[in-house]
Amino acid sequence: MSILAPWLALLLVIAFVSYHRFSLAVFAAIGGSALVACALLGASSASVIAAAVVLALIVLPLLITPIRQRFITAPLLGFYSKILPPLSDTEKVALEAGTVGFEGELFSGKPDWKTLLSQPKPELTAEEKAFLDGPVETVCGMVNDWETTHVHADLTPEVWDYLKVNKFFGMIIPKEYGGLGFSAYAHSRVIMKLASVSATLSSTVGVPNSLGPGELLLHYGTKEQKDYYLPRLADGREVPCFGLTGPTAGSDATSIPDFGIVCKGEWEGANVLGVRLNFEKRYITLAPVASIVGLAFRLYDPDALLSDQKDRGITLALIPRNVKGMSIGRRHFPLNCVFQNGPIYGKDVFVPLSQLIGGEDYVGQGWRMLVECLSIGRSITLPSTSSGAAKLAAVVSGAYARIRKQFGLSIGRFEGVEEALARIAGNAYASSALSQSTAAAVDRGEKPAVPSAIAKYHCTEMAREVAKDAMDIHGGKGVILGPRNYLGRGWQAAPISITVEGANIMTRSLMIFGQGAIRCHPWVLKEMQAAQLADPVQRLKQFDANLFGHIGFAFSNAVRSLFMGLTNSRFGAAPTSGVTQRCYRKLNRYSANLALVADTSMLLLGGKLKFKESLSGRLGDVLSQLYIASAMLKRFEDEGRPASDEALMAYAFNECVFKIERALSGALRNFPIRPAAYLLWLLVFPFGRRAQEPSDRLAHRAAAMLMSPSDARDRLADGVFLTPCANNPAGRINAALVKVILAEPVERKFQKALKNADIEALSFAEQLDEGVREGWISSDERKQLEELRELTWDAITVDDFDHSELIAASALKGKAFDQAA
Ligand SMILES: Cc1cc2nc3c(=O)[nH]c(=O)nc-3n(C[C@H](O)[C@H](O)[C@H](O)COP(=O)(O)OP(=O)(O)OC[C@H]3O[C@@H](n4cnc5c(N)ncnc54)[C@H](O)[C@@H]3O)c2cc1C
Repeated sequence: MSILAPWLALLLVIAFVSYHRFSLAVFAAIGGSALVACALLGASSASVIAAAVVLALIVLPLLITPIRQRFITAPLLGFYSKILPPLSDTEKVALEAGTVGFEGELFSGKPDWKTLLSQPKPELTAEEKAFLDGPVETVCGMVNDWETTHVHADLTPEVWDYLKVNKFFGMIIPKEYGGLGFSAYAHSRVIMKLASVSATLSSTVGVPNSLGPGELLLHYGTKEQKDYYLPRLADGREVPCFGLTGPTAGSDATSIPDFGIVCKGEWEGANVLGVRLNFEKRYITLAPVASIVGLAFRLYDPDALLSDQKDRGITLALIPRNVKGMSIGRRHFPLNCVFQNGPIYGKDVFVPLSQLIGGEDYVGQGWRMLVECLSIGRSITLPSTSSGAAKLAAVVSGAYARIRKQFGLSIGRFEGVEEALARIAGNAYASSALSQSTAAAVDRGEKPAVPSAIAKYHCTEMAREVAKDAMDIHGGKGVILGPRNYLGRGWQAAPISITVEGANIMTRSLMIFGQGAIRCHPWVLKEMQAAQLADPVQRLKQFDANLFGHIGFAFSNAVRSLFMGLTNSRFGAAPTSGVTQRCYRKLNRYSANLALVADTSMLLLGGKLKFKESLSGRLGDVLSQLYIASAMLKRFEDEGRPASDEALMAYAFNECVFKIERALSGALRNFPIRPAAYLLWLLVFPFGRRAQEPSDRLAHRAAAMLMSPSDARDRLADGVFLTPCANNPAGRINAALVKVILAEPVERKFQKALKNADIEALSFAEQLDEGVREGWISSDERKQLEELRELTWDAITVDDFDHSELIAASALKGKAFDQAA
């Protein structure tokens, strides 16, 4: 024992120091002290001396900077420069754009939770609240989604006017330019509420407030451009669209073949220097009704009129609708979701240089401008649209599952339906927390490149999952389209959100981890930058500092992973006690796991990692679920840790943790370098995978919450349009829930009496008469049952149509024309 003691002490010191990330000097001091203590306590002196030599051999070369730099860092720098993956300009822009917020902590292996919890809770100003309760509430009541999608194939002229007059298109435009100047959070709340009524409505409002002329002008426009366009965009005199995508350039947007040539041309009667453009764009939202087109194209200057550089790169311009050579106005028809969308063609369209966004200064900067702005718009429009749709589906599915009865029971009482309800509740809770957190990041001044990709991907995926479960729960009621159907159009529209603003498969497999690993990692980007420095002294010095920071970091993550795996996250730092304490500890563990596996992958696969999309997709899933779980914890704390939300939070949190372990184990089982995979498995899962899907008990509680009015249910539904009115069947069914629940005991009593009396063959009215006559129910209870029947019928009834009502109006017109001819 006295022989082993010094070695054991040294091992414990290494583990302790690595776990807490103490410096090398501290390691040397603690290690030395531990060995002295061993000697004093009678350990074998030979063994103590041997351990001390080993300690000195580890520490001294590393502590003496010239030795370390010359014999360790310099060869590693040479090797690193060789394996450093070559970055395309597009990738460089993507990596440099945006800021790093709390997601950086999640990549650290040791998140500082206090940073998260000290972020202010997002709040609305009185003016923003009034806008939500006033114009937003009003326009929600004005829109009949069935008529919008089936009859008009557009919002009505009254709705368009209302949106413009009330400056819905100017939410992001500051007041000084006549806009509403709303916070990102208020903006997201508006979109969320509109989305709970109609995807056409939320897309129509979302696009002018997202990546497009308004946002680009705000950030890069010249003074003249801002003064002229922003007030006109704010009040809807100008309707904008933005054209990037074309037939051959979809996900690979930088490959656009559209081009402009710098030349002289006619503009408003004068001969001026400008750009002659040829382009073909498709899928452009609002294009058919746009008055001003933001356009991305590649600019060439063959006659060196601006500079000697011939290919100037991607550039952005504003093209007025009526300019000669542009063809615009026909429509695409995106899955019955009839927001205006269509192609744009340009043949030798000439515009002066003053129409380039930002003027000559921003020539060739287009891709950077788009990527920077995307991180803001992508944080808001689709996450809030998806969370609005998910919240609405959650409350109506709960209400419907209680009201709809089969086999003598509310269908929500069957465990199969309960499972689907619980998934809906969990997804709605998670997606609203996620959407809120990215909007709040924008309000803190961040440009959340990685979180916006996470929010875009996961909110849209969760909304699609919710739409699927809600459709299943509603059965035929969800399938039959018509004014009474509040789900069908959302179900149809789900793939649209999946596709736009970076199609989801690519976002998951390339962007989340690809950007996240380099942007959020505390050392990787710094190392890459250091390795590319021109000055050799600075290069070695800075690379040295980052490299050893990185090695310590990797070592620490290995130790932390193993310790927290062995102890099943029962210990460790957490900012709270009680129900959430263990949640933070689990996330500490997965954060260390992510950092460890990511580091190993980057080290062993280098540039090849870019093509290992299954691996990077899975690691992206780990980062995403860590981010989602953190957003939920933050939401829970912000809302005062309501006890009635605990089951829902626990359900959604368990889902995240289960998905994290599934993704980690998938990454390791398929890791291409097997010996590394075995070692990583030991460190990450020393006792195997332990996380389970949420239990049936939790699922039962989450589902039950959706089926009865409560604070928790109100909080989940907060911000969606539930006013019961003619245009809002979802609001009506939700409002019916309270009365239905109140009538349930009477209904049960009546049903029992009926069964005993064996008079089921009578009509309902006759049964009630009999019930009152026989004293089974009072006349007040009779009224209650009549009302219950009415509400139930309103909830379960579906629409039917005359054949002619289902034929598109234009087809009918064509038929009339044929007959007349
Ligand atoms: C309704 C609608 C509205 C739109 N509005 C606008 C608009 O206003 N302005 C505008 O400019 N554009 C707009 N778009 C275009 C939209 O951004 C593109 O559709 C999107 O970028 C995807 O391009 P694509 O449809 O050509 O698909 P493709 O690029 O052909 O992709 C097909 C599939 O391949 C996957 N994929 C592609 N590359 C990779 C990769 N490297 N790794 C993994 N998977 C990959 C994608 O994820 C996708 O699943 C809109 C599209 C739609 C449908």
